[in-house]
Amino acid sequence: MIDITLPGTGGMQPLPGRWLTCCFIELAGRALLIDCGEGTQIALQQAGCKLSRIDAICITHYHADHVAGLPGLLLTLGNCAKTTPLHIAGPKGLRTVLQGLLVLCPHLPYEIYFSELPADKPSQLSLCGFEVTAAPLQHAVECLGYAVEYRRKPVFNPQKAEALGIPRAHWRTLHAGMSIRHEGREVTPEMVTDGARAPYKIAYCTDTRPTGGIVSLAKNADLFICEGMYGDDDEAENAVSKRHMLFSEAASLARQAGAKELWLTHFSPAMPLPAQFAENARRVFANSVVACDGQRKSL
Ligand SMILES: [Zn+2]
Ligand SMILES: [Zn+2]
Repeated sequence: MIDITLPGTGGMQPLPGRWLTCCFIELAGRALLIDCGEGTQIALQQAGCKLSRIDAICITHYHADHVAGLPGLLLTLGNCAKTTPLHIAGPKGLRTVLQGLLVLCPHLPYEIYFSELPADKPSQLSLCGFEVTAAPLQHAVECLGYAVEYRRKPVFNPQKAEALGIPRAHWRTLHAGMSIRHEGREVTPEMVTDGARAPYKIAYCTDTRPTGGIVSLAKNADLFICEGMYGDDDEAENAVSKRHMLFSEAASLARQAGAKELWLTHFSPAMPLPAQFAENARRVFANSVVACDGQRKSL
């Protein structure tokens, strides 16, 4: 099971009752965190996310509301007695950011691996058991959106295995994707499983204007988490000049991508009650949710 939590939903600055936007995705006791603004470690604790499970952090861009919480979180992970490596990924400039962080946190008890990802084309990496795709967004600085996929194994079909006379001792090996030899012939996993299953997919895109690349990144996502800096369509000019989005624009991307569900996040501090604009998203894409801090879902 994959657990997805949005510990914070704010943009620009943390507010009383609204932490900054980030996403915690957990699978089998390992967690991937996307973005880490000021106060994120408190937001994670309030949302019941176990910090000690964080094995990877993806950063969308180097605006403070997405990255300024890293020094505190890295120190806390050290105090939680973390000894396994931490993988940090982000756009160009990550090396410089990490050099600065290691001045503030010089004696961490775990290793940090890092991946500086291109901001002009999609790239792929494996993190915490997920296949992660990063793709360029359109913001005031280089910025990446992420699609996090879990490739599910095909369903094992015992009738097929029994029909071929395969002893039970080999079933687990075949279901794990490895071939075996039985009575002098090769048996492949395809012979005893049913067809491929669609992966579970979570897409996360903030901060950005709408782009065709986002539609590709979020294609058929089970959950599309997208910025909605402004709920009111009257803020269209602001959205263009500040390189952010309206609720209705995010909803249009969700509809074009064929996503199953949209969670809106990264709300303007000038919007105290984002939920009052929910209809602006729902009339474009019915399954739109104006997220709250601590929003949670399992796949
Ligand atoms: Zn932001
Ligand atoms: Zn930004």
